[in-house]
Amino acid sequence: MSLVIKHIDCRIVDHAVRQDGAIVSSLGRHSASRYCIVTIESRDGLFGYGEATTAPIWSGESAETATWMIDRFIGPLLTGSTFDHPAEALALVDRQLYGNPFAKAAVDVALWDLWARRQEKAVADLIADRRPVEAIPTRVSIGCYPAEETVRLAQEFWAAGVRTLKFKTGVPGIDDVARLRAVREELGDEPIFTIDANGAYASADEAVRAVEALEPFALSLVEQPTPRDRLNMLAEVRRRTRTPIMADEAVFSPAELNEALELDAFDVLSIYPGKNGGFTHSLSMAAAAQAAGKACAIGSNLETDLGQAPHACLAASLSAFPVETYACDLMGSLFYSESAVTPPIVLDKGRVIPPRGIGFGVVPRV
Ligand SMILES: [Mg+2]
Repeated sequence: MSLVIKHIDCRIVDHAVRQDGAIVSSLGRHSASRYCIVTIESRDGLFGYGEATTAPIWSGESAETATWMIDRFIGPLLTGSTFDHPAEALALVDRQLYGNPFAKAAVDVALWDLWARRQEKAVADLIADRRPVEAIPTRVSIGCYPAEETVRLAQEFWAAGVRTLKFKTGVPGIDDVARLRAVREELGDEPIFTIDANGAYASADEAVRAVEALEPFALSLVEQPTPRDRLNMLAEVRRRTRTPIMADEAVFSPAELNEALELDAFDVLSIYPGKNGGFTHSLSMAAAAQAAGKACAIGSNLETDLGQAPHACLAASLSAFPVETYACDLMGSLFYSESAVTPPIVLDKGRVIPPRGIGFGVVPRV
């Protein structure tokens, strides 16, 4: 079904994000969510929506640079063009513009939304290889705070029904062993513990020491222990430790995934459209990881519900995501008091209910 793009619009929105318990990682503190909302109108008067969930420390992009790249390059490239599939438009963009994955993804997500709406279908109906999961277990990030604050946050999230806790680790001056021990003592054996160092450990030796010190508290996953551009180091840590390794910052693009697979550098791949430079790329990367025997889980840059809708769609629809084994970072409603969309995405007993409805099932509220 062909689609003629009439107009691409960007606007910047500041979303009020929780300050108490804000995510603190080795990269810094997430205390502001200034994102770009992309709206694409087709010639037949339909609309599709996407969010550039930008954080300069993460991809080198801001809401302003995403807006500029879309207004200056992507918009003029696509406006007036006819496409039979969103992948055709993204291929054109990728040939003309290097980098800027979150800007590209916001456009690609909006095109998928629009393309599905044009067919009066949910995107899940177009991509699913299984009966979509009805409720996806959420993993929530607990910032790298001292033990007492860590316990308080863990208790709050546990009481909200979240069963998988992701402890940010590797911030100098914070005793991660004391934090994880304190939470185990308080909440017992039931919570699933994962850690995410966001590349904090500078060498394989340092990473192995840090992981081995925390393994007595029963880790189910170690996320990105080593710096993002050191795939060999990540592979070495995986060989030397027993807990499954998740690649996050190390693998943004399909090309990086190929190299990580060649090195057998990870067990679980963190996937989401912003990081991957498009929903289209997330689909192909999930398929490639699955073909290589690797599991996938949704990662996050603290999307609003607008950004989370395509994440929930991927996790629910594709068998590459074993969501009961590896929970997904669908934690937006624990950090934003107001939803950015209608209808809001529901988090019930620690599980996200994927939106139903055509497209990705949501429309920006503002
Ligand atoms: Mg991560």
